[in-house]
Amino acid sequence: MPEGKRNGHVRTLIPHDELQRRITELAVEIDRDYAASDRLIAVGVLKGSVFFLVDLLKHLTVPVEIDFFQTSSYGNSTSPGEVRIKKDIDISVRGKDVLLIEDIVDTGFTLATILDLLRFRKARSVRLCALLDKSGAREIDVPIDYRGFEIENLFVVGYGLDFNEKFRNLPYIGVWEPDAPLGDESK
Ligand code: 5GP
Repeated sequence: MPEGKRNGHVRTLIPHDELQRRITELAVEIDRDYAASDRLIAVGVLKGSVFFLVDLLKHLTVPVEIDFFQTSSYGNSTSPGEVRIKKDIDISVRGKDVLLIEDIVDTGFTLATILDLLRFRKARSVRLCALLDKSGAREIDVPIDYRGFEIENLFVVGYGLDFNEKFRNLPYIGVWEPDAPLGDESK
């Protein structure tokens, strides 16, 4: 079945092969930048970053530890941008080179919060790797060191990203179009 034909409401934005090509490029860059580090730890943000993190790290040749945060937004108007850590990392980052891996940067609040926490915990260095950058939606500045793709301010799903916990397993990034007419693509 061709990509994009799995669900009538998901329009392919970045096909699987394009994702993989760009991820390989990012991995080459990261591998080179951390060649001298023996203290690299990759920290992913659950659940959306999992597919990206796995595909990216498979290409690295430098030794790397892996851990995960899980966050959620309080999501009410009295605490805009306030991010809750639902699951903390298990490994200490003190004196380590942290590569923070995120699926998508939207407002920036999630990563700004995590970056502060990692610095407070005395990581030796912290760099940010994001597959997708919705820079048009940014409300707080976050420095992205490794960027996969710049995208428009659209709601995307697939390759780890969900809509109500669905679509994470799509092997490509698509745009969720709830009102799209069901045509051939619904088959
Ligand atoms: P931020 O804190 O930068 O606003 O949001 C980061 C988180 O919001 C991402 O990790 C992701 O979980 C969620 N998010 C932001 N934009 C999208 C989107 O277009 N699609 C999906 N599925 N999640 C998104």
